[in-house]
Parts: sequence; C-alpha cells; structure tokens
Amino acid sequence: MKYLPVQNYINGQFVDASTDQTLPVISPLDGTLLATVPLSTPKDLDAAVRAAKIVFPAWSHTPIKERVQVLFRYRHLLEMHLKELAELVSEENGKTMGEAIAEIEKCIELTEFATSLPQLVTGEVLEVSKGVECRTEHVPLGVVASIVPFNFPSMVPNWTIPNALALGNCMIIKPSEKVPLSVGRLAQLLKEAGLPDGVFNVVNGDSTIVNAICDHPGISAVSFVGSTNVAKIVYQRATHHYKRCLALGGAKNHLLVLPDAKADMTAQNVAASMSGCAGQRCMAASAMVAVGDVDHIIKKICEEAKKIVPGQNLGAVISKESKERIEHYITEAEAQGARILLDGRNATVAGKELGTYVGPTVIDYVKPDMKVAKEEIFGPVISIMRTNTVDEALAIENANPYGNAASVFTQNGGMARYVIDRASAGMIGVNVGVPVPREPFSFGGWNESKFGVGDITGKSSIEFWTKLKKSTVKWNPEAGVNWMS
Ligand code: NAD
Repeated sequence: MKYLPVQNYINGQFVDASTDQTLPVISPLDGTLLATVPLSTPKDLDAAVRAAKIVFPAWSHTPIKERVQVLFRYRHLLEMHLKELAELVSEENGKTMGEAIAEIEKCIELTEFATSLPQLVTGEVLEVSKGVECRTEHVPLGVVASIVPFNFPSMVPNWTIPNALALGNCMIIKPSEKVPLSVGRLAQLLKEAGLPDGVFNVVNGDSTIVNAICDHPGISAVSFVGSTNVAKIVYQRATHHYKRCLALGGAKNHLLVLPDAKADMTAQNVAASMSGCAGQRCMAASAMVAVGDVDHIIKKICEEAKKIVPGQNLGAVISKESKERIEHYITEAEAQGARILLDGRNATVAGKELGTYVGPTVIDYVKPDMKVAKEEIFGPVISIMRTNTVDEALAIENANPYGNAASVFTQNGGMARYVIDRASAGMIGVNVGVPVPREPFSFGGWNESKFGVGDITGKSSIEFWTKLKKSTVKWNPEAGVNWMS
C-alpha cells in the first residue's frame, strides 16, 4: 500500500475512526492500492460536530479581515505544493497531470475569491426616520457540512471550504470514499496556514455519514455535490431536518452546432469538452445536436478526438465498474442502430493493464429516446443527434431533465442570443465547450442538476453560507445638543 491508512481529521488531529471497516482506495491509472479509507460511524461525526461547535464562537467573532489572513497563507501553500497536490489528484482520480495541475490552479483561484470576501459582504445601513437606523449584516450559520464527489478531489472541496470558513462558519467535510487523499492533505495545509483547530474537520465514509450529516441537529447547512439521485436524497433528508441545503446533481450537457460554426475551433472545443477529465466533468459535452449539414465539422471532431490517446493525453475513468458501464452504453447504442464513428471500447495502456481507460468515442445518428442520449454517461463519449432546425435542437435540449450547461457554436450573434434565451440550463456557452463561470461569477445549474436556491461559488455563495441579521437602532437625535453642559 503506497500511503498510510486514511484517518479522520477532528479538532486539528488525525484520528482513527471508531470502526475497523474500510474500503480500498485504488488508483485508476494502474490499479495500485493507494490506501484504505475508513467507513466512519455517526459517533465519529458527532465528535467532529462537537469539536466544531466549541470553536465556533471564537472563529465567528474573529473579524473577517483576520479570518481571510489564514486563506492568504493557504493560497500560498497551495501554490507552493501545487505539483505534489496535483500528483495526488492524478493518482487517486486518474486524471492526467496537466488536468490535475489545472485543478489545483482552480483551487488557488477559488481561494483568491474567498480572500476578497471582506470587500463583498459589507451590509447596509440607512436612517429610516429621525434617529432610527436600519442595518443588515451577514452572519455565519454555525457548523456546516460539505459532501463532495470523486471527480474533482480537490477543486469541489475548495468550492466550499474557503468561502464557508472566510464567512465565519466551522466545517465538516465528507470526501468521496473513492478519492479521500487530497482532502486530508488540504486539512494539513489549512492547519499550517494557521486555521484554529476544530474549525475544519474531515469525516470519511459513505452514505452512513451522509445520512448522519443530514440528521445531526448540530449541523446548520449542508452543501452537496454529486449525482442527481443522491442529490435528491440529501436535499430531502437535510431539509426534512430544517437545514439549509444546496444539492448539485448530475448533468447531460447539450452542444448545438450550427452550419456556420467555425469548423476547426468547434471541433477542438467539442473534442476537448467530451474527453477532458475522461468525460468525468459535470460540465462535459455529452450530447451534440447537429443542426442541418455539419458533416464537415463532425469529420473534424473525429480527427481531433483521435489525437486524444489513453495514457498519454487522456486519463482513466474512476473504476472498473465505471469503464464497464460506459462501454455498455456504447454497445447498446450500436445495437439500436447508432453509428460508432470512433470507438473507445477495450482501450488499454501498455504497462498499466490494471488501469481503467476508455478511449474517446463519437456516436452518430443517435435518436433522442436512446439511453445514450438521455442519461449521464460520465465518460469520454459524445452522442450526436441530427435535426433540421434550431427549434428542434432546442426542443431536444429542453426535454432533458438535467440543466447544468448548454452551448451553441455559431458565428451568428442573433442566433447565439436566441439559444441563450431558450436553452434550459444554468450555464450557457457560445463557442465555448466547457462554459464554467469564473470567479466572481457563480457556478450552478438548473432543473435536476441543482436543488435549492442560489449557486455554490462566487458571489452567490455569500447568501448560502450566511444569514442576514437585521437591526433597527434608535438613539436620541438630540443627544449631542447639550453634551458639554
Ligand atoms: P455520488 O452521488 O455517487 O457521490 C457523491 C457523494 O455522495 C459521495 O461523497 C458519496 O459518498 C455520497 N453518496 C453516494 N451514494 C449515496 C447514497 N445512496 N446516500 C447518501 N450519500 C451517498 O457522485 P460521484 O459518483 O462521486 O460523482 C459523480 C457525479 O457528481 C456525477 O453525476 C456528476 O455530474 C456529479 N457532479 C456534479 C457537479 C455539479 O456541479 N453539478 C460537480 C461535480 C460532480
């Protein structure tokens, strides 16, 4: 085993969970056993909540300008340890080093945003009548929880950690049991940055801990990122216990490609979007709706996708089960009459035979009612559907229950605006394959890609991680008149 068994991190210390039950953490790159992760119990969660509750009064009353000093130092440590953190992400998740480095760079950007929060959370004050003022201020919620998925072992945790802490909350995070190593390292860096013990805690495990988080009376808010099925469970369970909850779910992102699209740029964008991070991005292009004759672009997409080679510039998918599931989708579409233009099944990498790789796959003449067109595949696969008009293409996009992202490829500004106005997704790209809003803009989808109000990053996160205190204050307006007498 390459690393020591994973431990929980409670009150500034790495501690064993109160269980002997563990799961293996296996590198998708080559099947190496990296570590084991404990399946913690609700008792472990309770210990973390108690530690966080004790330190909450001191942390929440520390002025925000002081709190963000920790994050300035944390940002610096992320930069200093960039390569090491990226290696960990690549090992446990299967990404290429280039993608893993980009992930840590994104963590740095997220932390930079959090250090700017003092500029953004100022409240309001107004004299509403003589001597009476109304004032609002954003105050922290208390102990909050963040439940995260496997596909960004460091970035998705950093969607929540810097903002929630800067805004004065104490946090319990539940990493994905498939990729628990990165969060443990982040805990060490936060401590090195000077974060007081107990403000940030890590409890490893599976659905038992997720359910315990939703049920625990000491936790005020739950942020969840993962698949739609689990997002629904978490949203229902957390709100049943009257907690604030924002639950981001899965996706099926549609790209509308119009005949006037710039062929080279479109092909590069589509190929990169479908295959980046081995297609395991909630922003990945998964369905392409070809409007009219775009055969010349489809040909170029295949040429671009052929340049993406497993083990070279394409990482692995998370597990053997995942590889089998993705390949099954392809096989089923083929059996139903779709044409496989580029086939990524049975990909292997010499010397890494236990790695779980799927090559880029382009499937044409997919019908909107096929599973491959409707469901989230989470692999480097794009399903192309053919339509004659933009309205038909929009109807396909709109009919999908998800609503994370959609993109249109065209050189016609009016047509782009038409699609922006009608696509039913929270994040829209124009000639952009992965339309992730960068800070200070907020990240979040619509429909079954997100449950709850607001978005998870950027300015919108302020509303989620704080509550408004409204005070009405009355002083004698004449108080100063006879002050010296
Ligand atoms: P997942 O839903 O399987 O797991 C997410 C978290 O929930 C993990 O921590 C896991 O331990 C826990 N969990 C799993 N099953 C559970 C259950 N039955 N009850 C309670 N908790 C449970 O997701 P994943 O496979 O780790 O991640 C991939 C999914 O995440 C994809 O659907 C992807 O689209 C989505 N995702 C969405 C976004 C977004 O911004 N919308 C971002 C990243 C990933």
